[in-house]
Order: sequence, then C-alpha cells, then structure tokens
Amino acid sequence: MNIPRYSDLGRGGRPLRIGYGRIFHEACAYSPVATVESDFRRLHHLTGADLHAATGARGSEIAGYMPHAELTGFRAAAYLAGDVDAVPLASSLAVPSGPLTAACFEWLVAGLEASLADAGPLDGIYLALHGSMQVEGLAMGESGQSPESIILSRVRAACPGARIAVSYDLHAHLTEGMVAPADILISYLSNPHWDLYPTGFRAGTRLIRALRGQIRPTSAWRKLPMVLGGGMTISFLSPMRQVFAAMAEMERRPKVVSTSLFMVHPYTDSDQLGWAVHVTVDGDAALASRVADELADLAWAQRLIPPPTMLSVPEALASLRSKKRRFGPVSIVDVDDIVGAGAPGGNTHILAALAADDTGLRTYVPLHDPGAIDALWPLADGTSATVTLQGSPGYGQPPVTVTGRVAAHQTGDFGRVLRFDTGTTHVAITERPPLPIHPKFWRELGLDPRKADALVQKNFFHYRIFYAPISFEHMPVVSAGATSLDRVRTRDYARPTHPQTHLESWRG
Ligand SMILES: [Zn+2]
Repeated sequence: MNIPRYSDLGRGGRPLRIGYGRIFHEACAYSPVATVESDFRRLHHLTGADLHAATGARGSEIAGYMPHAELTGFRAAAYLAGDVDAVPLASSLAVPSGPLTAACFEWLVAGLEASLADAGPLDGIYLALHGSMQVEGLAMGESGQSPESIILSRVRAACPGARIAVSYDLHAHLTEGMVAPADILISYLSNPHWDLYPTGFRAGTRLIRALRGQIRPTSAWRKLPMVLGGGMTISFLSPMRQVFAAMAEMERRPKVVSTSLFMVHPYTDSDQLGWAVHVTVDGDAALASRVADELADLAWAQRLIPPPTMLSVPEALASLRSKKRRFGPVSIVDVDDIVGAGAPGGNTHILAALAADDTGLRTYVPLHDPGAIDALWPLADGTSATVTLQGSPGYGQPPVTVTGRVAAHQTGDFGRVLRFDTGTTHVAITERPPLPIHPKFWRELGLDPRKADALVQKNFFHYRIFYAPISFEHMPVVSAGATSLDRVRTRDYARPTHPQTHLESWRG
C-alpha cells in the first residue's frame, strides 16, 4: 500500500459537494436462494443521518464485519482535502447469495435515486459497488450489461453534471458499462479483503483531485480470457504477491493515478467472464495503454497457479480422527458451498458423514435449512427431536435424518438460527444462508469455538481474520454444491478461456 503524499490529498481549490453511497452484493448463479429486500435490511441498510454517523471516525460502518469500510475511508479523504461537503446517499449490503429478485434490485436503485434527488446539487458522487451482482431475468450477454452498469447509468442520468468515482471488489466482472461512466475506478488491492477503508480513501482523493482540476483521469482497461477458482489468488502469497507489489510500484510512477486488477468471481452467469485490469493516468492515453498492457501481461503470466490440495469428506474426517493432539479447532473449508461466494450454505454432505460415523469428534456445522427451522422453532430448548435435514430448498442435497436435542434459539444476521445437538455434532440451522466468519456466531449459541475439534467454514479466507488466534489448521474439503470448481471448467464461454482452453496469449 502506498502512503498518500500531502500533495495527493487534493487540498486547495474550490469547495465541493460529493455524495457517497453503496449498493453491494456478490451473487452466485448456481444458488437456488434468491436475494430479497429483507436480506439487505437485516444486514446493512443505512441512509441520510444514520449513514453519516456510521461513517464518521467513531462510527461502525458495517457492524460486525468491517467497522471502517469504503465510505468511512471516503469521509476521511473528504475531511483531509478540506472544503469538501460529504453528502450521505444510501448504503446497502447483503450476505452473498443467489441473484437478486428484480423487485429487490429496483428497490435498491430507486432508493439511491431518491437520495440523489434529496441531496441537491453535487459536484461528484462516490459509489462502493461489488461488480459481480446479478439480477433475475437480466441477461448479461454481449451487450456488457450488468446490474452495476445499470446503477451507474441511472446515477449518471439523475446527476448529469456530477463526476463519478466507483470502487469495486477485486472479484468484479468488469464490463464496458461499468467502466465508461466512471471518471475514477478503484479496486481492492488485497485478497482476502481488508483494505476496504483505504479503497474508499483512494477513490475519494482521486475524485477530489479530478474535480479540482489537479489531474485529468485518462483510463485504459484490458479483459483477460482466464478464470480461476476461488482460493487460488491470495494477495500476500506467491505468485499474486509479486503482482500486487508491481502495481504499487506502477502507482509510484509519474502520472499514474491508479492500477486495478480484477480476479473475477467465477460463479457469474455471463459468457464474457474473465479477469480484467484497469489503469488510470493523468492525461496521457498512450501511457494508460502501455501500463494496462504491462499489467495484463503480468497477471496473465500467473494463470498456472496450482489449486490448493483438497480432501474428500471421508478423507478429511479420517485425517481429523488420526490427530492425537491439536491446538485449537481445525477449520474445514466447505469449498463447494462457499456462502462468501454466494452459495446457499445448505450442503449436507459433511453432516451426513458425521451422522453416519460419529466417533466422538466435537464438530460445529452451520446449515441453511429453512424447512428444519420451521419444524423445530416451536420446540423449547432441551426438547429431544428427530429431524430430516435437507439443506437449502431446491439444492438437491442428500437428506440426513438425525436425532438430538434443541439447544438454543437466536435471531440475527442470518434470520432465525437454531442450535441442534446430535451426538458430538453441533448444528447451527439457519433460516437464511449462514456466513459465520466470526467466532461470536458460535458463542451466541452457547458454544466455545476453542473447544471444537473442527468447525465448518463457509468462506475461503475472510474468517481467518477473526479466527487467527484460535484456528491454525485449514482443510479445504470438496463435495458437491454451488461453488464447485468444476463449474469453472464446464461452463460456456463466448471466447476460448483458460483453463478450459489452453491459450498462449491473452490478446486476440
Ligand atoms: Zn471479493
């Protein structure tokens, strides 16, 4: 990460009014669970004064996930630049899941438009978007149309005079419609993503400098015909570490304003899917083009990253049982059912194996199963019951019948959550897709995460930020579900794409 220089803060020049907001969701085309308005309202939906309070230095922007995120970073940039009035618009975020319903998407965009109408005249707008959103019924074909491109075109129409800065998750599926309306375009530079605040800060300083005439943003971008599975592109490990270091070096060069790399979310239903790079420089189109080619070459050269070693469910359980001593719980990463990448979280394969052969491993397993929630919720804690767990409706998982005891009821980010203990397995059955990246998820159900032999995680890496003091061994396990890596290899691409097709060059 480059430390901003005083001269990069955009100080001096005319007073500015800049609106800021967020519409953020990562969708998985293979999840049967649609994302609806209540999913945003439950997790994060703020407007006006509430948004302004949450994004101040003492606020907690996305409580429980990332207290200081993009919009707080933007507010800091606006404050340090001086004479910038930061105007809150609307901010909404939901747990990754299936595509949004059309009604949910319209509610989000109309809400943003209404906040723009209330905001009065704006010089600029900063939006934190994901870039791999999907909406039911919206074809994402050759036109390059995507939900984010629709958001940007409607914002542009609502405020024709304002310049737009946008930040995207580095898993964005970049399209022309997401690039063209943006004067400033910034990506996260870490995977897992802990640089949300610096991302908003970077977008803010660059937008302010553009509005004050200190830079003339000129951009170039390249699409690369490559798609890799999740979990292969950690920014602080080889080989991607070298790429991000090179990007930091590029940004220190004269006239280079920003460099972005998009290691696309592979579960988006677009046949145009692929990695992308984007470069902005100060008023030099030839330089933008050269640096974009240089970064594209560098990213392309990393495409042969080997996937991490994965175990089958029986192999994973055999390995766990063979361990004599362990320090903290082993994290079983449920690779085919990654809620962090939009899977529904109702994979029953691990639970089925534990139920068939429970040899005393103390395991914590989250499971999306709204049918089981409806059946068990009326039962008081301590009640014994036999229940057939089927996972997410429409997900085609093997049913598992277990006998046990209702142990806790909770309501929170994942709707109703019921703890069901069967043998030495503790199941957290959830009404909505579960993403228990924080140990407090288990503590709120009366379980100490440190006492588990193993706990199942529904995201590739983000949980490690919170589990770093507890869990030291991480075991990727494959079964069958919405985020199976096979989907990357077997899906349709409009253009021959690595690794489905062997390619020597990204050009052409
Ligand atoms: Zn991401």
